[in-house]
Amino acid sequence: MRRAVFLDRDGTIIHGVPYLSSPEELVLLPNSARAIRLFKEEGFTVVIATNQSGIARGYFTEQRLHEIHDRLLDLLSQEGATIDAVYYCPHFPEGAVAEYSIECQCRKPKTGMLLRAAREHGINLKSSIMIGDTPGDILAGNAVGCKTVLVKNHEEEIDMPVEADLVVKDIWRAAQILCSRTGQGVRPVL
Ligand SMILES: [Mg+2]
Ligand SMILES: [Zn+2]
Repeated sequence: MRRAVFLDRDGTIIHGVPYLSSPEELVLLPNSARAIRLFKEEGFTVVIATNQSGIARGYFTEQRLHEIHDRLLDLLSQEGATIDAVYYCPHFPEGAVAEYSIECQCRKPKTGMLLRAAREHGINLKSSIMIGDTPGDILAGNAVGCKTVLVKNHEEEIDMPVEADLVVKDIWRAAQILCSRTGQGVRPVL
């Protein structure tokens, strides 16, 4: 069984543009690639899990999202960082596009994306980590038994308390702590 790092996308590895809908708008956060490289060196499977309700809302298509993710993976690989899988939830119950406007099991804080990734990649969730910048990320991670890391970079105000195992200013800090011997299994709160 593998250990995984599940990464939220917007506000965690890229700048959080609301309903980012074109590849040109995508900007990596500083040190995202470096953090992912470190997680890979440490032996983690690295998986992106992102809510993309802009599809259900009719702001962009799945095809466009694939183009955005192609650019994301390209920018990361230019810096030597590889992602093992990308999962996204295109749904939103009150959307404008009927086929996506459902109450699904994958929109975080629901756990569908993490459970599917675990199934498809042989991941042991108990030894894995969910990293994200909103309560939905932390709730989803906690619900499947992952360690959870809240990125608090002030791109988005958190207006509800969440129980994360670790709070950091960016994912590079998370990588430094979690990939050091002393960081394994501890619950430091910064
Ligand atoms: Mg986010
Ligand atoms: Zn969904």
